[in-house]
Order: sequence, then structure tokens, then C-alpha cells
Amino acid sequence: MTTRYDYLVIGGGSGGIASARRAASYGAKVLIIEAGRIGGTCVNVGCVPKKVMWTTSRIAEILHDAPAYGFDIQQNGFDWLAIKQARDTYIERLNNIYHRGLDESGVAKIEGFARFNDNHTVVVGDQTFTGEHILIATGSRPIIPELPGAELGITSDGFFELEHLPPCVVVVGAGYIAVELAGVLNSLGSEVTILLRKEQLLRPFDVTLRETLMEEMECAGISILTRLQLQSVEREDNGRLLLRRLDGEVISGFDQVLWAIGRRPTTDTIGLEHTDIVTDDDESITTDSYQNTSVEGVYAVGDVTGRRALTPVAIAAGRRLADRLFGGQPGAKLDYDDIPSVVFSHPPIGTVGLTEDEAQEQFGEQMVKVYQSRFTNMYYSVLARRSPTVVKLVTVGEHERIVGCHMIGDFADEIIQGFSVAVKMGARKRDFDNTVAIHPTAAEEFVTLR
Ligand code: FAD
Ligand code: NDP
Repeated sequence: MTTRYDYLVIGGGSGGIASARRAASYGAKVLIIEAGRIGGTCVNVGCVPKKVMWTTSRIAEILHDAPAYGFDIQQNGFDWLAIKQARDTYIERLNNIYHRGLDESGVAKIEGFARFNDNHTVVVGDQTFTGEHILIATGSRPIIPELPGAELGITSDGFFELEHLPPCVVVVGAGYIAVELAGVLNSLGSEVTILLRKEQLLRPFDVTLRETLMEEMECAGISILTRLQLQSVEREDNGRLLLRRLDGEVISGFDQVLWAIGRRPTTDTIGLEHTDIVTDDDESITTDSYQNTSVEGVYAVGDVTGRRALTPVAIAAGRRLADRLFGGQPGAKLDYDDIPSVVFSHPPIGTVGLTEDEAQEQFGEQMVKVYQSRFTNMYYSVLARRSPTVVKLVTVGEHERIVGCHMIGDFADEIIQGFSVAVKMGARKRDFDNTVAIHPTAAEEFVTLR
């Protein structure tokens, strides 16, 4: 027997839950199917536990700085397992909140792995479902390279299972996760090496941000090895891990190898071969600007679409889709331009809009004017250690419309959201100039740039 719903949602992560609840609020009969823990990547093995660990590592830094502010404190160590257990408890609480939220919204849910049987039918165990509308929100999974011994390493999923701080870690990768987890481990006391296959961290980011971050990470004691290709991972007799490079050299003595080389959309296991749903070269589901797939009545949002893989993007796309399908808003869709983002590095990065290079490519070098300031936050006024802050505006045209707003430095993670509203509204440099500064802050530098 096939059970019919108005809206069948595959995947109970950020995008799926948001879309399901919004659809139910319009009176749709909705079923959400989740194979793992409710909340998906963000809640269980992503943003949430990562932010707890980033905060932990920031506290370590503040404790280190406290004596310079006159505090006579004695540190008696750091208990990794204690924060892991507190974090796990918090996540369980969130899982329950998500379950309750779905119940209160009237969304039906089942646990199980969904596979397409044909374009409009989905099978979970021995049950078959169909929906007038079907949403694929199955997210993504970490990539493990195809190297001999790769299974000896862990991914970000494994990082959140660690029960103690590994003394010596090598992080392979150059993106958000490599930077964030390397920073956390380093601040908490691990000896950290990052291996890049190219020359830079965070290559798609504005040049000023990535160069400043790389200097800062090296200054903080992280060793960054560039242009390095791996051949294999091996376990040494002493139990530690050794990486063999393609050029034959070895680097050894690691307690953990952490793969952070990107994520693969979860499309290979969901029965797409029984459908006419088209995927891109990177295995993500091809969608148009309304999140339609190539099959009418089937949609995709979030990481599985290969577009900006961020929680608020999955949520916003999912909600707008439900507004369009069930809320009488036929034009509703997510505008993917000017999506702000934060990298929880040390120091953090906040960024929105075009990089300097992108603006020059899009508008021509003559049209682009950049304003930038590098300074030391007053936090460091009494400290021996320094960490720079850089703020940067990328403007175009004679009216100097701000097309890019970038910051690296303490509190960039909280500062950039407000400025992203201004960028989205089409603010010009003179609007920033007309805004009175808030003193003494780091954010004020954005409105005093000359
Ligand atoms: P997911 O949240 O991954 O949800 C997909 C769900 O589908 C999963 O629960 C999965 O179990 C389920 N599923 C898969 N296949 C099936 C199936 N066949 N049947 C049933 N269920 C299925 N983003 C930010 O914005 N800020 C951050 O700070 C941030 N930090 C991150 C840190 C890490 C370490 C990682 C890995 C990611 C981070 N992200 C962050 C990215 C963010 O987590 C994702 O962009 C977001 O979770 C995507 O939501 P989604 O709904 O597309 O997929
Ligand atoms: P990213 O896409 O950010 O970065 C992965 C990088 O690793 C690539 O860009 C590439 O850089 C490098 N790489 C790829 N393959 C290899 C390889 N074989 N060997 C060595 N390096 C390799 O992926 P992440 O896994 O870090 O994160 C996935 C996504 O999750 C992010 O893009 C982001 O959207 C989201 N996320 C968001 C966070 C946030 O909002 N704060 C935090 C964490 C994740 P290069 O080509 O330069 O070598």
C-alpha cells in the first residue's frame, strides 16, 4: 500500500525541517523521513558542536591573557571529556526540541533510509510513500580520499567523537573545516600541522583575508605545509601515524590524521537511478533558481544541491520553497547573492559579497576601488601578544556601491551580519561615511575608512 502526503521530505536536517514545518503551517499534510539523528549535520556534527569547541578554545585564549589584565589565576588543566559530555548533552536537548517542534507543527515523521522507487514513489523499509510534492534534503557527507590507509584518519564526524585531545594532529585540507578544527586543536594545546595540496588556505576568499589568516595561524604555532600530495597513510610500530608523500618523503609522529578535503552531496544512495533526476558533475542535484529538479514535483534544497553549503541557506531555500508550493507565493525563491558567511578561525573571518578579485573581473579594474584598514584591537593594549584586525570594503563605480565587505579579527563573527544588511540594500561608501561611529570598537573602522 502506498501512503500519500501533500509533501514528502527526505532528510531531517536544516533544510528539510525548515521546509516541512513551513509547509505544515499552511495546512499541508507533511511527512519527514530521517535516517539518522534529527537536526542533521548542523546540530549533530556541524555548526553546533563546532561552535561549542570554538568557544572552548576562545576561553583557553582568554585565560592565557587574563594575567595581563591583573587576574591572578591558576590553571589546573583542561578536561576535554567534560566539555565533550556537556556538548553531547546540549545536542540531545536540541534533538528533543526539534522532535517537539515537528510534533507541534503537525509534521508526521518516520525514522529510516528513503530511496526512490520511481520519479514519484519513495520506499522506506517495507513502506511506500508518494507525495504531490517531494523534497530531497539529504545533505552531504565528508570525503575520505582514496589512498591506502586513508581509513586510519578521521573526518569532522570523528573529531566530534574524540574522547581526549590528541597531542599531535595533521589536518589535510584547505577549507572551512580544516581552518576551524586546526584552530580549535591548536588553541587547546595540540601540536597541529596543516597540509595543503596548493599554496593557500581558503582559496575562494578575499586575498587579504586568506593571507592575514595564514600568517596568524603560523604565528599561533600551526605549521602549514604547502604543495603537498599524499601517497598513503601508515601506522608506525609505535602506534603513531605516518604520511608518505608522492615524492617519497615521509612526515611522521601523528596521533590523528584529520581529513577536511570537502563534502560530497548525498545522492549516491537514494535511488536516483530509478528516476529522471539529473545530477551535476560533482554529484549534486541539478536545480533551477526555484529549487526545481529535472522531474516535475521533485525539489532539492541545501548541501545536496551543491550551492552555498551553509545552514541558513538550506533553511531559507526550504522555507521559500514551502511558501511557493503551499503558501500562495508563486514567486518565492532564495536570492543566492550576497550571502554572508563566517569562518570560526583564530581570529574569525566575516565576509559578504564579492572579493576584490571577483569585483575586478566582473566590473573591470578601473571601476573598483578598495578601502582597507589594518589595526590592533584594543583588547591587545595590555597584552604582549598581538593579533591583527583587517577591515576591507570593495566598491564599484562612481557612486562607490559596496559590493564586498570583509573582516578578519576578533568579533568579526558577530560584526558582519549587520553590515551584510547594508550590502544587501545596496549601500554606498558615502552611506557608511554618514554613519556615526561607535567608539571604541573594532566595527567602527568600517564607517571611518578613508
Ligand atoms: P543536513 O543538515 O546534512 O541534513 C541532511 C539529513 O538527511 C541528515 O540528517 C541525513 O541523516 C538525512 N538523510 C540523508 N539521506 C537520507 C535518506 N536517504 N533518507 C532519510 N534521511 C536521509 N554551516 C553554517 O552555516 N555555519 C557553520 O558554522 C557551519 N559549521 C559546520 C561545521 C562542520 C564540521 C560541518 C560538517 C558543516 C558545517 N556547516 C556550517 C554546514 C551545515 O552544517 C550544512 O550546510 C547544513 O547542515 C546543510 O543542511 P541540509 O539540510 O542540506 O543537510
Ligand atoms: P571546503 O569546500 O570548504 O574546502 C575543502 C578544500 O580542501 C577544497 O577547497 C580544496 O582546496 C581542499 N582539497 C580538496 N581536495 C583535496 C585533497 N584531495 N587534498 C588536499 N586538499 C584538498 O570543504 P570543507 O569540508 O572544509 O567544508 C564543507 C562545507 O561546509 C564548506 O564549503 C562550507 O560551505 C560548510 N562549512 C561552513 C562552515 C561555516 O559556515 N563556518 C564551517 C564548516 C563547513 P584547494 O583546492 O585550495 O586545495
